[in-house]
Amino acid sequence: MVRKIIHIDMDAFYASIEQRDNPEYRGKPIVVGGSPEGRGGVVATASYEARKFGIRSAMTSKKALELCPEVVVVRPRFDVYKTVSGQIREIFSRYTDLIEPLSLDEAFLDVSFDKQGIGSAIDIATAIRCAIREELGLTASAGISVNKFLAKIASDMNKPDGQTFIGPSRVEAFMEALPVEKFFGVGKVTAAKMRSLGLLTGADIKKKEEAELVRHFGKAGHFYYKIARGIDERPVQPDREIKSLAAEDTFPVDLTLLDEMVPELEKIAGTVAQRLGRNRLKGRTITVKIKYADFRVITRSRSLVRATDELGVILQTAVELLVGSGLEEKKVRLLGITVSNFEGVGEGPMEVGDGDQLELF
Ligand SMILES: [Mg+2]
Repeated sequence: MVRKIIHIDMDAFYASIEQRDNPEYRGKPIVVGGSPEGRGGVVATASYEARKFGIRSAMTSKKALELCPEVVVVRPRFDVYKTVSGQIREIFSRYTDLIEPLSLDEAFLDVSFDKQGIGSAIDIATAIRCAIREELGLTASAGISVNKFLAKIASDMNKPDGQTFIGPSRVEAFMEALPVEKFFGVGKVTAAKMRSLGLLTGADIKKKEEAELVRHFGKAGHFYYKIARGIDERPVQPDREIKSLAAEDTFPVDLTLLDEMVPELEKIAGTVAQRLGRNRLKGRTITVKIKYADFRVITRSRSLVRATDELGVILQTAVELLVGSGLEEKKVRLLGITVSNFEGVGEGPMEVGDGDQLELF
């Protein structure tokens, strides 16, 4: 049976809420997150007016102010965003019970069972977007297709305030033409590796044997083999609970000095802390992942007495673990931090996905 999957992605979610609630911000370039003096911190969301200046999420606020000196830097109000996210979920639940939130502003919906008897997934997506606009004063974009992978790509194709349908008869041609950079979950490093192997589009991947893809990309090779054929059987999973939050970064050049690694760890710890804050989570166990130039990977963990979401605590623990791992004459290619063992888990099974909110992978 062909499934009907919708991916809903709110447009510039945090910034749009701030513009809705503060009329003085409407029509103006604003960013949510970072510091108004341009001292530290990164942009979580930029309004569409700010994007015209080249401002993007995950950029430092310093850089944003350089690109547009009149940009308004707004302090985030996560409690409000979380409340609005709950209101959006209530709207989703009128149309389906199979809802998988990816973050406060994004979710997959399986509407194969047509709860309201509307007749088509396209019309269901339209109805959801209308309800969000009329009841919450916000806009959303939607992708409608036969699986999660295609629905997610489709929601980005007609943004903001639009929707795209990739029907079963279009899937094969669509995947063949798709550049590898657009493949869900393919980061910059993997994309560069694919290009170096002459894999530029889905059609190129489709020509490869599955075993060859696995040889080059490990387990992900199985996924690429299938997805190049438009096959993605992952179900929409409601109530997915977060067990851990992690961030990592691969460096363009190997790092050898602790002095070079600490600022990188600080950035990574900042991402993790921000995601913990957004999800209202505090964790007791901090894990550092270190990948060396020879691709050996080690992890070092420590459990704290008290659960934390504080950047300072996460960073200090991570630095101690890194130092304790013994760095003498090691070349470090990647560093990562994971926080797990949560206490007081919030009510929402939310996780920060990608999309137009902060993304640092
Ligand atoms: Mg979004």
